[in-house]
Amino acid sequence: MSTGLRVAVGGFALESVSFLPQQTGVEDFEREARRGGDLIDALSGTASVAGGFLAGLEAGGAQAVPLVHSDCSAAGPASDAAFERFRDELLQRLADAGTLDGVLLFLHGAMTTPARPDPEGDLLEALRAQLGPDLPVMVAFDLHANLSPRSAALCDALFGFHFSPHVDMAETGMRAARCLLAKLEGRADPQLALVKVPLVLPSIFTATALAPLSDLVARSLALPEEVPGIIDASLFCGFAYADTPDIGFSVAVVADGDKALAQREAESLAAEIWRHRAALLHEDMVHGLSDGIAVASRQALRADRPVVVLEHADRLNNSTWCLRRLLSEAPALAVHCPYFWDPAAVEAAGAAGVGARVSLVLGRNTGERAGGPLSVEAEVLWVGEKRFAGTGPMRRGRQIDLGPAALLRIGRHTVSVVSVCTSAIDLDALEQFGIDFAELDVLLLRSKTHFRAVFEPLAASIVIVDTPDWGTADLSRLPYRHLPAGIYPLVREARAPHPDRRGGPIHPSA
Ligand SMILES: [Zn+2]
Repeated sequence: MSTGLRVAVGGFALESVSFLPQQTGVEDFEREARRGGDLIDALSGTASVAGGFLAGLEAGGAQAVPLVHSDCSAAGPASDAAFERFRDELLQRLADAGTLDGVLLFLHGAMTTPARPDPEGDLLEALRAQLGPDLPVMVAFDLHANLSPRSAALCDALFGFHFSPHVDMAETGMRAARCLLAKLEGRADPQLALVKVPLVLPSIFTATALAPLSDLVARSLALPEEVPGIIDASLFCGFAYADTPDIGFSVAVVADGDKALAQREAESLAAEIWRHRAALLHEDMVHGLSDGIAVASRQALRADRPVVVLEHADRLNNSTWCLRRLLSEAPALAVHCPYFWDPAAVEAAGAAGVGARVSLVLGRNTGERAGGPLSVEAEVLWVGEKRFAGTGPMRRGRQIDLGPAALLRIGRHTVSVVSVCTSAIDLDALEQFGIDFAELDVLLLRSKTHFRAVFEPLAASIVIVDTPDWGTADLSRLPYRHLPAGIYPLVREARAPHPDRRGGPIHPSA
């Protein structure tokens, strides 16, 4: 049954590693952009937040008014031009949308640009300036959002994914849509409280199945059931690699008509997170490069299933630290490295042709912190364009476009090389290139937590290898400029400095 309510739906998302020199530009956001009717066609029924917005509005009998949506996942900072372009388009489409009853937006919460440490706050401020204070605006953010109190003050309610891997993105969109419709229909009076926690974790430790994070998430999930008047609660882990004064954990609670209740419950959960700060930092899970490759090789020889080597610090899918070591130290193992990002290597493989043996440089543009270029002798097994519909738990229904791609064999190892930077997080990354996971000894991944949804139950073990790359687990290696005082674990480093881990030469710890 139609309620006659008209709700605008849009999104503009990027998880920015501020320190990467490569900016995410207009053309990158354009590749992912969906607008107007195409937004509804492309995102309905998908595992995305917008898919959840659309499903929630439809279930509630409201009309979705599509704006523009672009999600560039994780990369370097957005260019200021890209930010301004998409901000302006959102504002223009809102102005052209006619009478609206509310707005649903998906923002990541860890975007940065060279000039803006809090672009989401800037966007919401511009939106409010145009829409006025009364039109309800509700926002879904990524679990890795570095939320600013300014953003929270500019929206009526905000919602975050409960899990990493982010298997509940669509459900998060549904939560936001249900809450907005409840407000619009007078069934609820959502009141938001946001409390920050001066704690940030390397992304690798934000897997929500790891205790005690799992217990803290469970507590946030139970809040609406156990405390009368609570509508929703979200726990945000923040993103350690976005350089912003708002870095770190936060708790958002939405209560029905009672802001003080929302504030009390958010403060209580924030205090519990702070109490567990040391236990949330699982430094014992991480190996240095030499040790990690040795451990993984030993385990792979004994195991009856593949071992996952996780080069988690790689942010651009072009790090060469682990691949170089595996080629030299484990040449007899069947190793596969999916989605190595190198358009020039794809082009060289394509020019050589299928069946050719070529001398190639992998990662000609790979930076020093990511291990630098790697020269290999490769056989070209396949070349072509790679486009397909995603089937994994986070990419179900999404069109994946990797551009020109190639499959290479280097000794017993295989590497798929792609022209569009994206992380391998599910079996599509292997099966699209004819690689059988079960036949491997070692799978080299560069995901942080998302791979766990698929590979944790399939793998014999997961060996996490830390390198000096921009996503390192050693946050003291990062050149922060906007970091506020007192953020744990960096404050601990300040009290007990490790001169050997600060500002030294770039080489992976053994
Ligand atoms: Zn995330």
